[in-house]
Amino acid sequence: MKSDNKIIIAIDGFSSTGKSTIAKALAQEIGYRYVDTGAMYRAVTLYAMNHGLAGDKGNLDAKGLVAAMPEIHIGFRIMPDGTQHTLLNNEDVEERIRRMDVSSKVSYVAAIPEIRRALVKMQQGYGTEKGIVMDGRDIGTTVFPDAELKIFMTASAETRAQRRLKELIEKGHATSFEEVLANVAHRDHIDQTREESPLRRAEDAIDLDNSYMTRDEQNAWLLARYREAVKRVSTSN
Ligand code: C5P
Repeated sequence: MKSDNKIIIAIDGFSSTGKSTIAKALAQEIGYRYVDTGAMYRAVTLYAMNHGLAGDKGNLDAKGLVAAMPEIHIGFRIMPDGTQHTLLNNEDVEERIRRMDVSSKVSYVAAIPEIRRALVKMQQGYGTEKGIVMDGRDIGTTVFPDAELKIFMTASAETRAQRRLKELIEKGHATSFEEVLANVAHRDHIDQTREESPLRRAEDAIDLDNSYMTRDEQNAWLLARYREAVKRVSTSN
């Protein structure tokens, strides 16, 4: 048994359910590392766009991108204010990868089996010491099927699009509710229907529908689930 009872927390769910917001808050509260796996798929997508490998509407040079994988280095940097920024070949791309042009292509990139396998391997490497909160689509099913705590988040597509729109507008990216709603629904569809590790609720996941919950309520709910999981682990050891 690990003396400090550190666990792995997997948070999966549909696009823009607020996974990263509660995952980050929990990681900070309990002193765990947070890993945003969506950012990793987004960084690979940006690389593809910058190297002429990703056109519009899934028009993707998958072979070329897979061949380029050894040249793609993804990392994270903790900023002085405690936030985490994504690095692509040492360049800070945190703001760039959140824009709509990346969002509209990322699910096609994330459906390429070889890309998924490479990123899943990296993600598993982050968890060897446990003490990690990871969010994504396949964390509880594929990356860490033995995670001690698995959460599956849902909220209505309208609620999610509204939240995402607010975020984009706050960051100064012009877009419309309709465009964001269509993107959220489209990404969910591709994520659920791809062959390699599709978005799926793990059988042993705990559901969280946060459509009508405040951030504080969600944080308190997740902290309670974490405490229960740690208790469960320590009594079973
Ligand atoms: O979480 P976020 O919305 O930033 O993820 C961007 C996209 O990356 C998702 O729409 C999905 O296509 C893909 N993704 C994935 N598996 C993960 C995380 C993200 O396929 N574990």
